[in-house]
Amino acid sequence: MTYFFETYGCQMNSAESAALALACRERGWELAPNAESADLVLINTCSVRLTAERRALGRIALYASLKKKLRAQGNSFALVIAGCMAQRMGEGLKKKFPAVDYVMGTSSRSMFPLILEAVEKKINIIMDFVTPTLGRFSFSSSHLEEGEFRSFVPIMHGCNNFCSYCIVPYVRGREVSRDPKLIAEEIRLVAERGVREITLLGQNVNTYNWNDGELNFAGLLRLAAAEAEKSGVKRLRFLSANPRDFSRETIQVMAANRVFCRHLHLCVQHGSNRVLQAMNRGYTREHYLALVKDIRSSMPEISLSTDILVGFPGEKEEDIEATLALMEEVKFLYSYMYHYNPREGTAAFDLPDRVSEETKRERLSRVIALQKKHTQALLKKRVGAREIVLVEGISKKNADELVTRTERDEMVVAPGPVSMIGSYTWLTLSSLRGNTFRAKEGISCPNA
Ligand code: SF4
Repeated sequence: MTYFFETYGCQMNSAESAALALACRERGWELAPNAESADLVLINTCSVRLTAERRALGRIALYASLKKKLRAQGNSFALVIAGCMAQRMGEGLKKKFPAVDYVMGTSSRSMFPLILEAVEKKINIIMDFVTPTLGRFSFSSSHLEEGEFRSFVPIMHGCNNFCSYCIVPYVRGREVSRDPKLIAEEIRLVAERGVREITLLGQNVNTYNWNDGELNFAGLLRLAAAEAEKSGVKRLRFLSANPRDFSRETIQVMAANRVFCRHLHLCVQHGSNRVLQAMNRGYTREHYLALVKDIRSSMPEISLSTDILVGFPGEKEEDIEATLALMEEVKFLYSYMYHYNPREGTAAFDLPDRVSEETKRERLSRVIALQKKHTQALLKKRVGAREIVLVEGISKKNADELVTRTERDEMVVAPGPVSMIGSYTWLTLSSLRGNTFRAKEGISCPNA
């Protein structure tokens, strides 16, 4: 039996696809080179933006017509729609696309083995979309992608924050923290399979809370650091960090332990207090800036990145200026920048005073221009630095070069043997092209 997956959206979706793929392999299934030759095609969808849903709908339509064509030739595959859009639209997806066999929302993933069994036996099962596992989210045993040296380890699921523009709490549900013993076990497991860098993953990791306060996020970081040290994992990261819940204790744990990479993605979303309040982010720009100061004074070498959302309803010129001023103050290494689109089912959907498309585009272009300036200035200052990098793979642009990454999340390419993939080594960031460093001396020294 064979499977073929397409995954959209965030790292949580990538991790979940990896776990579903592992469930297939554990039953003896193999990865198909394309959908045509697969027994099961799964689209893991994202719901966070309208454009993501439109893209997923386009892909479903494409696979539905491919399925029709193959069926006419006496051959076909089972089509499974998973992820946040599946959770949001439920069985409505099957009505829209009768070619869809199974809709597996984020709350019904534990049905996956049943789906595999049905495909193996060539039978159809009636799957109750939500009820089987509602409220009993089960984490899969491993989220390791084959052949990868970096892996995600989920630590929690869902979100309680209800930022007014965000659909996540509605489709992923409330926060559920994972048993720390299982997290430690998965760190050991992926390390045994060759993983060198782990990202602890959750929608809002800072509110990790096991057993009513028995273990908080800082405590989990201590535990993960100890486990990583024992298992030979040299780098730990975590995603997504929310400024509202980022504790002093977390900063102290990171600063005290060099296994934590000196890079932090700290979503600010906006620089205006009025807009932050309307977004229900739960912090002020002053809080964010004080947090950045605290983080930098404890870890001066750290690089910061962020998300910026432009054009929220009611946003005025002075608000966007406040965002640009905050960017000037913090100087992010990079940002994910996007403009607001109303999302049905969220609190902000009905907010008045929408910003025109033209103004959104104009404001976003100013934010992007400033970010580009900061990225280039920060990277230029780094030319000549000597860094430990993890060799991740062969460059897509030049097969003679290997792609590597510093702990600050900077990309460095250098010539070197493929046998070095998955190793740490020292490199000098000799020059900069675009946002990528080149290391002239090449990769040769293993086990940095
Ligand atoms: S913290 Fe806010 S933006 Fe992030 S997932 Fe939760 S509700 Fe969405």
